[in-house]
Amino acid sequence: MIPPYVQGMHNMNLIDKLKDILFKDVTGEDKLKDMVFLIRILCIINIVCNIIWIAFFSISLNSRLYQWAIAFVVIYSLTFWMTYWDKGSTNVYVYATATMLSMLVYSFSIGAVPGFQFILYSLILLFYFKTDDNPVYKAFAALAIAATVIGVWFYLISVDKVVAFSKKQSLVLLLTNTMYMSLTYITISYSFYLKFASNEHKILKYAKKLEKLATLDPLTQLTNRRGMTNHLESFISESSSHTQLSLAISDIDFFKRVNDTYGHDAGDYVLVELSKMFRDFMKDKGWIARWGGEEFLFAFEGNNGDYAFEQLTKLKYSIEKKEFIYKDYEFKVTMTFGLEEYDSTVGIDETIKNADNKLYQGKESGRNRIIY
Ligand code: GH3
Ligand code: MG
Ligand code: MG
Repeated sequence: MIPPYVQGMHNMNLIDKLKDILFKDVTGEDKLKDMVFLIRILCIINIVCNIIWIAFFSISLNSRLYQWAIAFVVIYSLTFWMTYWDKGSTNVYVYATATMLSMLVYSFSIGAVPGFQFILYSLILLFYFKTDDNPVYKAFAALAIAATVIGVWFYLISVDKVVAFSKKQSLVLLLTNTMYMSLTYITISYSFYLKFASNEHKILKYAKKLEKLATLDPLTQLTNRRGMTNHLESFISESSSHTQLSLAISDIDFFKRVNDTYGHDAGDYVLVELSKMFRDFMKDKGWIARWGGEEFLFAFEGNNGDYAFEQLTKLKYSIEKKEFIYKDYEFKVTMTFGLEEYDSTVGIDETIKNADNKLYQGKESGRNRIIY
């Protein structure tokens, strides 16, 4: 007796091997690769059905059609094998040709009644699944397929091509043909679903990524003006009229001098270091954004101006103390702040404008201070 866990491992290996055979080279973002996977499954369905038909034609129907069924097993096996080295559309056309041929051979040999002509309908779905060519061409292909099915059907009925089957034989044909149609339709529809779902997922992922990129300042990794504006708008609309909000605009003093004296890279370094400090400082207080070149906007959410003033005083002190060491240079900077409490009757834009005016006053009156 094989212990169950060994059996489990054994099964795992077989499943892994099967997965490897089916999924080889098909993971990735390329749409043609979805097609490769689909063609492989469709080939397997055709191989299985043709094996059943080999037995049916040779044993039950006593017809030489089994030779054709063997030929189709070989053709679909070759098509399956082809998918490993052709990643383009060729295997789709080879598969479609084989399917067309099998429909013609089986229909013309045993008549319209078993419904082999309907096999062709699956090609319409297959051509539509293939997204890399012209929609007009697809429409023509679909019409041509529908016309062929109807044409073959009418022709076979008109020439009275009827093979008499026993009840058992009819049942086998009905079962295999229904199985064939069901499996191909389910497989193609499921592939459509997988493709659609994964595309939807990708779109959402890229939309989020784009939104993040559009609202992030690449140098400092802080929210930019657009991100902060969006955030403040939703903060205001979601909070009650009693929610407190204090806004402070700050600007680095004589920043041009930093650039001129130590170089633009040193200026960038200062912006990055200050941003890290501000992010930490605002962690439990609200949002911080890079509002412009060397300007930052602090949003103290749920807090009044007095609290914000107290906190900014501490921050201003930390900035004054901070030593910036860049290459061989060591220097310090200061900042000026304009602080304004949000007033719902005035609105966000006006509040920011007032904070900006106070910043200007701070600059005029000597810098390195908070005007409140
Ligand atoms: P004030 O105290 O009046 O604000 O003086 P200031 O020199 O800071 O003001 P000014 O507006 O004259 O200069 C701002 C400088 O900020 C000029 C600009 O080159 C610099 N700056 C803006 N964005 C960046 C940036 O991303 N990196 C660097 N290194 N410098 C920047
Ligand atoms: Mg400045
Ligand atoms: Mg400025």
